[in-house]
Amino acid sequence: MAIDELLARFHEVAVSPRKQLDSYLAQGKKVVACAPVYTPEEIIHSMGLVPMGVWGAEMEVSEAKKYYPAFICSVMQTVLELGITGKYKGVSAIVIPSLCDSLKSLGQNWKYAVPDIPFIPMTYPQNRKPDYGIKFTRAGYERVISDLEVATGAKFSEVALANSNRIYNEHNAAMREFAKVAADHKISAAQRNDVFKSAWFMLKEEHTALVRQLTEELKKAPAEDEKVRVVVSGILADSPSLLNIFDKNGIKIVADDVAQESRQYRTDVPEMDSRPLDALAQKFADMDNCTLLYDRDKKRVGYLVELAKKHNAEGVIVLMTKFCDPEEFDYVPIKRACEAAGLKHLNIEVDCQMVDYEQAGTMLQAFKEMA
Ligand code: SF4
Repeated sequence: MAIDELLARFHEVAVSPRKQLDSYLAQGKKVVACAPVYTPEEIIHSMGLVPMGVWGAEMEVSEAKKYYPAFICSVMQTVLELGITGKYKGVSAIVIPSLCDSLKSLGQNWKYAVPDIPFIPMTYPQNRKPDYGIKFTRAGYERVISDLEVATGAKFSEVALANSNRIYNEHNAAMREFAKVAADHKISAAQRNDVFKSAWFMLKEEHTALVRQLTEELKKAPAEDEKVRVVVSGILADSPSLLNIFDKNGIKIVADDVAQESRQYRTDVPEMDSRPLDALAQKFADMDNCTLLYDRDKKRVGYLVELAKKHNAEGVIVLMTKFCDPEEFDYVPIKRACEAAGLKHLNIEVDCQMVDYEQAGTMLQAFKEMA
């Protein structure tokens, strides 16, 4: 397929998750919803189920307001709204990790608000790196496995998990390679996001094949180097109207530290012969540089500065999800580190219920003029 055809396919999947869900259901597959972040998709995949990401949507919220106050992030509000209004009908279960306070409350609300879709908690440890932390993670995965067996009737096997770990590692590598090649080739911010977003709605082996094709085609195309290069950081960077402002102003995302995008693909499941579940727990221990992963030294800040330098970026644009406490705590150290490194920085508030990005447009235009 040519680049345009591939990009059209990614776009189609990214904007129509319901169509994807219906297509998997029509094939007789069972689908499990995966709330952000770091849901152990490998386990779900290994049991012959289809893991599908649920990160909310740009929409008005009404029913979820009965469960949440207005001052909670729109990711949680819209995931619950979609659940209550039946948009996930057909899904066999939802796995919700416990990595921030809002996520903890989502699971509790889900049980009462969406009783027809079983809630499966994944409780991660705060201290994920010591042996006891790794054992805790493994115990959490065992609980997910037994709950999935009850909810779906599927069976778990370590042999199948070893295969799924390999498929996910291959997908990670394909996404890293795509991000690297896209940094220097003609691809818009919205198209780049389509590639990342579509990954949540496809089986990873299917997505890997398409991403590899696109990366190879991009490599053959001429390089693009006349734009203002930036690194973007945050939870989500998927608002079409916001991404269009990047493109309109000639601002190119050359790398990201976005939870829905590259943060997912930095860490592989390590090789641990015949112990794939231990290896998956080790993967979580090995992850770093994310607001949601406890780190008293805030190494994410230095990571972000190095990422910007490595990609020859003018600066860092933080897309701050409104009412996201973990991300808000990190912004001041990021700002200070960027200033110390001579990098420009910008903080743009984003929200799934935001339709007007006029103020962001002015900020991005000013950013470009200063570059
Ligand atoms: S990390 Fe932030 S955006 Fe994600 S669920 Fe928690 S509060 Fe919401």
